[in-house]
Amino acid sequence: MKRDTGLPNGSDVVVIGGGFHGMSSAYHLASCGAKVTLLEAEYCARHASGVNAGGVRTLGRHHAEVPLARASLDLWHRLPELIGEDGSFVASGQFQVAESPQELDKLRGRVAALNALGYTHEVIVDAQQVREIAPRLARHVVGGIWVKDDGHAVPFRAVTAFRHAAQRLGAQIHEATPAQTIERVGDQWCVTTPHGVFTAPWLVNAAGAWAGELAAQAGDSVPMKPGGLMLMITQRVPHFIEPVLGAAGRPLSFKQFANGTVLIGGGLRCEADVVQRHGDVDFFRLPSSAKTVTDLFPHLAGINVVRAWAGVEAFMPDEIPVIGMSPRAPQLVHIFGFSAHGFELGPIGGRIVAELVLEGQSSLPIAPFAVDRFASVTAR
Ligand SMILES: Cc1cc2nc3c(=O)[nH]c(=O)nc-3n(C[C@H](O)[C@H](O)[C@H](O)COP(=O)(O)OP(=O)(O)OC[C@H]3O[C@@H](n4cnc5c(N)ncnc54)[C@H](O)[C@@H]3O)c2cc1C
Repeated sequence: MKRDTGLPNGSDVVVIGGGFHGMSSAYHLASCGAKVTLLEAEYCARHASGVNAGGVRTLGRHHAEVPLARASLDLWHRLPELIGEDGSFVASGQFQVAESPQELDKLRGRVAALNALGYTHEVIVDAQQVREIAPRLARHVVGGIWVKDDGHAVPFRAVTAFRHAAQRLGAQIHEATPAQTIERVGDQWCVTTPHGVFTAPWLVNAAGAWAGELAAQAGDSVPMKPGGLMLMITQRVPHFIEPVLGAAGRPLSFKQFANGTVLIGGGLRCEADVVQRHGDVDFFRLPSSAKTVTDLFPHLAGINVVRAWAGVEAFMPDEIPVIGMSPRAPQLVHIFGFSAHGFELGPIGGRIVAELVLEGQSSLPIAPFAVDRFASVTAR
């Protein structure tokens, strides 16, 4: 039985969530000729995808994510030909520094393991090369890993670029339209919202920190936990570094924008309120990050932090996402749980969704991201 919703239905796919992965899904599906309706509870890129650090990083990825991250990076480099604009991507390079010989040994081990798998994008650099890449770094830094084709982008601009491309291809976007319930009726998904019921044979669950609840409605319970992540930004200082910087031994994500401000973050956790839909900045936890920065760049001691904010992110216990078809509900694709590093994967995430919907399989290895990999945990 198909419900009469009174809405302009006839879509092939309803995508829930206007973050990067939902928007990229809408774009890739529409570019293959699918009729797409995207539902966003608030406004597109309101949450993690629009407020993150903008790090486009393949460096340091879980081995299972490396093929996806490299394929995504290729798309980042080709955004103008793909979506007609560069999404603000800058190929600045990314750098992970070692602050002791032991840390450098660990990094060498990681790069050797990657090389054994056939990946050569992460390269070990010594103390001298470190100074060439980042001359103002503290003298105790002994080396690090360098990925020259990584970079950064302004999150809201990147997602909006995909939005414009998706809309040019006919995707319908409904903001302020939260999906309240999802239900399979006959050969259709029925998504109930305050503005009516949207139907389509295919459904994509890209609802970020709220995706676990929707997955559970379809019978796919996952141990996903929403959490907050914080960032802070400083006053403008004279330009001193080009690449994005992380540290091997402590959490750090650090970059300087063209306007001179410095963005500081990197796994700075805080509380998230998913009911009120926001993260709460915990000012007591910010100083540890500030100290990491001044340890690595002593010349920044004394500069002012002018703003701090928190975003809401979906965390999985194994810190890799859920990407794939529901094993229980027909024609349902899940893509969520990016555990603080899903921005870089945005361009490829949507392509994988389009492949699953239109071809029934992904050209990239996604078995490690199966939604039911926690089945024994959730059963307990
Ligand atoms: C502070 C911070 C810094 C980060 N830094 C980086 C970084 O440097 N590099 C990196 O790669 N990653 C980073 N990340 C992680 C990255 O931002 C996320 O992994 C990624 O944006 C997740 O995208 P998403 O589309 O899955 O989720 P989201 O961006 O959360 O989008 C989900 C959307 O779904 C909507 N939604 C939820 N429920 C419903 C519903 N029922 N109906 C309709 N819509 C709904 C939400 O409103 C939201 O807009 C960071 C995250 C944060 C918070």
